[in-house]
Amino acid sequence: MDLNSKVAAALGRISEVFKVLLWDHAKRLKLSPIQIQILNFIASHKEELCTISAIAKEFNVTKPTISDAIRVLENKEMIVKNSSPVDSRSYTMLLSPTGNQIVAETENFADPLKKMLSNTEDEDLELVFETLNKLIFQLNRKGVLTVQRICYGCKFYEKKGTNQYCNLLEKELLNRDIRLDCPEHVTNVPLI
Ligand code: SF4
Repeated sequence: MDLNSKVAAALGRISEVFKVLLWDHAKRLKLSPIQIQILNFIASHKEELCTISAIAKEFNVTKPTISDAIRVLENKEMIVKNSSPVDSRSYTMLLSPTGNQIVAETENFADPLKKMLSNTEDEDLELVFETLNKLIFQLNRKGVLTVQRICYGCKFYEKKGTNQYCNLLEKELLNRDIRLDCPEHVTNVPLI
């Protein structure tokens, strides 16, 4: 097996770890993994991004899948819908106090993995982070990962020689500063 194939297989294993950890939390809270992911997404994103279409794109699933999950979360009083004043069929979502409580119990689901990474040298971690970021960006540009708010695809990102810079925050970005899901991200690709 060549090195590319081995790395691809290793990434697959790591993604399994994520699924297992998420499933574990989901079972305890009597929610499905996608329901937990939706709650965590709503907790950490601006309200205008919390729509069915945006969340479906974010998780690469269909809108009906998200609608079903939203219905359950609404019935469990974990989210509140906020209808658009111009179109009553469209709405954004917010967390209810119960939803906030669930998020507080689930947001650390990846802690076992983070704990293991804390044994890795800082230099090695930075290299892994840079490599993964580049891979994520390439996958996004190929249309495999549909939504990414990573610095490399942002109109405020600039490469000056070997240095990287954010023209919005007006600061140099070290590799460790690159954001994967920046709230200020504005795509540098014209939307079709
Ligand atoms: S605005 Fe955010 S995504 Fe864009 S370059 Fe600055 S830090 Fe990165």
